[in-house]
Amino acid sequence: MPADHRHDGARQRTAVSAVRTVPDACPGAWRRHDAADGALARFRPVGGAVGADELRALSRAATTGGSPLEITSRGSLQVRGLTADAADALAEELRALSSGPAPLLDAQGRDLPCSVVASPSGLLDAAAATLAGALRGRTDVPGRLLVALDDGTGDVAGLGADVTVAGGRLTLADTPTDRASDDPAALALAAIEAFLEVRDGAWRVAEVGADRVLSRVTGRYRSLSERYRPVGAGAATREVTPRLGEIDTATAAVLADLADAGAVLRVTPWRTVVLRDLADTDAALARLDGLVETGPSPWSTLSACVGAPRCARSHTDVRGDLARAVAAGRAGGLLPAHWVGCSRACGTPAGPVAVVEGTPDGTYRTIVRAGRVTP
Ligand code: SF4
Repeated sequence: MPADHRHDGARQRTAVSAVRTVPDACPGAWRRHDAADGALARFRPVGGAVGADELRALSRAATTGGSPLEITSRGSLQVRGLTADAADALAEELRALSSGPAPLLDAQGRDLPCSVVASPSGLLDAAAATLAGALRGRTDVPGRLLVALDDGTGDVAGLGADVTVAGGRLTLADTPTDRASDDPAALALAAIEAFLEVRDGAWRVAEVGADRVLSRVTGRYRSLSERYRPVGAGAATREVTPRLGEIDTATAAVLADLADAGAVLRVTPWRTVVLRDLADTDAALARLDGLVETGPSPWSTLSACVGAPRCARSHTDVRGDLARAVAAGRAGGLLPAHWVGCSRACGTPAGPVAVVEGTPDGTYRTIVRAGRVTP
């Protein structure tokens, strides 16, 4: 993965809030968020995995809803503008498509209760699937919880996840620990169970403190009998960048065709699609050229909230404004920039970022932030 996706993850955090008194309202396959443009359904791929037929189903539903299929900052896939019946039909279609170790929904229709991201190299696919199997359908896991399995490259270790296992070592809410295992799924699950024991309504590890969680992580995972060593990744891998994580119908069709031909698809928390095991990398990129960014691009450091007209709070058409700014050469530099339609700044990524905020008078103001602003 590009070096700018990698972070040292060395930030320290302490407990930041009192115990929550309400459950989180994160949407899922069956629980939707009512947005201005209709129901929003979110699907959490297991380590970014999505199959060809799943992608086609999601794309068809997104088209019906009037919006592109979206990749979120947690590597989830999001469909907007649905009616309740259409959302039910989509979930049911995905349930019927269930196959392999990492379907979006399993044969019982169960999705993941929280996000499980993994390095897209494939080295931790089996661990992600094992962890997902232990979490599916659970109602005691808050949707805000983020779990990251990193293969040692650091590509998902800097996401500020509640539970990170990187190179076999456990980090809790950016606090490195001395716990390690040669079984990343077991170690992550032990940490999740420990958090559930002490959370008392909290949504995230930082809310109760990493130390309290760590004190309960004992005896349920195999010790590090030998140093964790990921094996080498395959060579026929390419990464492409849909602008703002939007996968339109034509792009979804090409990606699904490539998957039918043997490619393995992984969506990432940095809103890209990694294609592994490509039979012909040049031919694949040629098919995707013009649909997504296939090389260096100003869009690789840009993100945006949904904005108007799909969000009623937005002061402006954020994504349209951003596209015009990119075309004019006024956006897209080394510092990540996140454009938003109001001061809520939804989806602001972790790490240093320029938040470009729409204001009621139609102008934008820019605020440079040094770290995470949305829990
Ligand atoms: S930042 Fe404001 S305009 Fe953008 S999605 Fe959030 S609430 Fe809507």
